[in-house]
Amino acid sequence: MGDVVSNESLANLLKEERRFAPPADLAANANVTAEAYEQAKADRLGFWAEQARRLTWATEPTETLDWSNPPFAKWFADGKLNVAYNCVDRHVEAGNGDRVAIHFEGEPGDSRAITYAELKDEVSRAANALTELGVRQGDRVAVYLPMIPEAVVSMLACARIGAAHSVVFGGFSADAIAKRVADADAKVIITSDGGYRRGKPAALKPAVDDAVAREDSSVEHVLVVRRTGQDVAWTEGRDVWWHELTERQSAEHTPEAFDAENPLFILYTSGTTGKPKGILHTSGGYLTQAAYTHHAVFDLKPESDVYWCTADIGWVTGHSYITYGPLANGATQVMYEGTPDTPHQGRFWEIVQKYGVTILYTAPTAIRTFMKWGDDIPAKFDLSSLRILGSVGEPINPEAWMWYRKNIGADKCPIVDTWWQTETGAMMISPLPGVTETKPGSAQRALPGISATVVDDEAREVPDGGGGYLVLTEPWPSMLRTIWGDDQRFIDTYWSRFEGKYFAGDGAKKDEDGDVWLLGRVDDVMLVSGHNISTTEVESALVSHPSVAEAAVVGAADETTGQAIVAFVILRGTANADDEGLVADLRNHVGTTLGPIAKPKRILPVAELPKTRSGKIMRRLLRDVAENRELGDVTTLTDSSVMDLIQTKLPAAPSED
Ligand code: ATP
Ligand code: MG
Repeated sequence: MGDVVSNESLANLLKEERRFAPPADLAANANVTAEAYEQAKADRLGFWAEQARRLTWATEPTETLDWSNPPFAKWFADGKLNVAYNCVDRHVEAGNGDRVAIHFEGEPGDSRAITYAELKDEVSRAANALTELGVRQGDRVAVYLPMIPEAVVSMLACARIGAAHSVVFGGFSADAIAKRVADADAKVIITSDGGYRRGKPAALKPAVDDAVAREDSSVEHVLVVRRTGQDVAWTEGRDVWWHELTERQSAEHTPEAFDAENPLFILYTSGTTGKPKGILHTSGGYLTQAAYTHHAVFDLKPESDVYWCTADIGWVTGHSYITYGPLANGATQVMYEGTPDTPHQGRFWEIVQKYGVTILYTAPTAIRTFMKWGDDIPAKFDLSSLRILGSVGEPINPEAWMWYRKNIGADKCPIVDTWWQTETGAMMISPLPGVTETKPGSAQRALPGISATVVDDEAREVPDGGGGYLVLTEPWPSMLRTIWGDDQRFIDTYWSRFEGKYFAGDGAKKDEDGDVWLLGRVDDVMLVSGHNISTTEVESALVSHPSVAEAAVVGAADETTGQAIVAFVILRGTANADDEGLVADLRNHVGTTLGPIAKPKRILPVAELPKTRSGKIMRRLLRDVAENRELGDVTTLTDSSVMDLIQTKLPAAPSED
């Protein structure tokens, strides 16, 4: 589609006047102050070289960035390190072996605390086990596990021996596994008999068996963790129990130092906009930025904080902010296996209370669900330990932001809305909790050492108050190095739209203060009667109505207006989906909030929205429905029956005009 968001159409879009200063005590003791922006601006590479020194290197790098062959970057290329050593051993050597690394909370209520000393032994045994199975530096290992500590141990064991992991989300089908395993050419898959999901054991191994049975499978061994104790089919010689293999290994393993550019992992994107891409991340630069951003944005004090990221390990957030960033920083964290409503809708808050969680990192989709469930649920628990709240994955609607701040953060915790992608490896745009005056709904400002801006169609930077495309103008340490096996697709997807700049695929605007607001995918921007309108802003306007819990908006081809806005809404508890007056009221509400041009042509109350397994709304599928097309790739959808329900609704829906 043409230009993304014209300045003209932005003028009457959402205005946000609310401001929240950082709490004084947090500001006074913050890990990172406003000076960091100045320092990084004066000497960006010097700044990152300094952050790299927060890691322990076997050979210190002398070169920071090699950008001689763009867009193929090398960071700290002559340095050598072991990533697992940095995440585990060095904390034990520093005398913190007794500190809890992971408080594991299983869905059925079982729990397990693992200290750094214990983690070191487990990772060492697993590294020895993988070596016994023939895994070597440069090989790939697929990981298909529930949210159990062995997932983290597996990733670190791979890192320890220089093999790259490819984690496949534990909810994916045999098909998805087979494709990812074949693409990465993995030698070993680590899986489990099953995991607990909504109060029941759910099997995992059958999907792996199915995937591996396919003719072209590269897999030599399937390593199976026992979690649920359910019966599993067994292929002698190929299948190996994790506990049997690891128990007989030595807890001693000498971590070898690898090049900073040694591949650390391949991870496929969520598939929100199309077919997932295998994103390659390497070691030194990735770990530098994952650790630095975790330290800066969450203000982590490893001696006193209890950190909890609710993401699944199968997503990049789980990689960078469960495994690598927090452990590199010596954090104590909570890891939870299950869903937020098992056995009751207060489970998250019960966990916060139980462990005294101080930093919580979750997604807008979860926050909107909690809003829908009602304020009284979190109110039953003691959440007073919390001091910082994070959000990631989608733009957070201002009303959801306010709800999060008030009902979870007791109106005192700063919210850090962190924008980044699988491709960026680590956070790029976010407030700093001790520095930034926050605004509901805005990710605000590129982090120190990061160069992000908003440009128009001709790659010109837009002025404050303008809108366009989000781009990254300088390389950053944790940037993807390529799309696995497809350098050309890497160039075409990210580096061809704007010469010399990384194109993120997201629309954005700068407000009058120069703060960045994410407006959703460029593919999702609508063109209505010559005006560019962002799905995010119409959705936020709908969610700001008291009857709406969630909204997904798409532009559907329309003979008169080019595109017409079609909104799918989930109503809050007491609102009635058959109430004609409500639909008219919602249209008017959008009209008064954003302007008449943004009024949806159709508003369809639905029970559920199509979401990726990571919880993001898949607007492309709704567009397919709204335009009567066959559905595109649905393999990363949580529940495909959602689409059947929505499809049956559409033809019957009354036209609103
Ligand atoms: P695919 O690239 O396969 O379509 P995906 O983009 O959903 O999938 P991820 O890498 O998991 O895969 O998600 C990154 C995207 O999520 C960003 O490009 C952006 O659209 C969205 N996003 C993440 N965090 C934020 C945020 N804080 N605010 C707004 N959008 C966000
Ligand atoms: Mg993407």
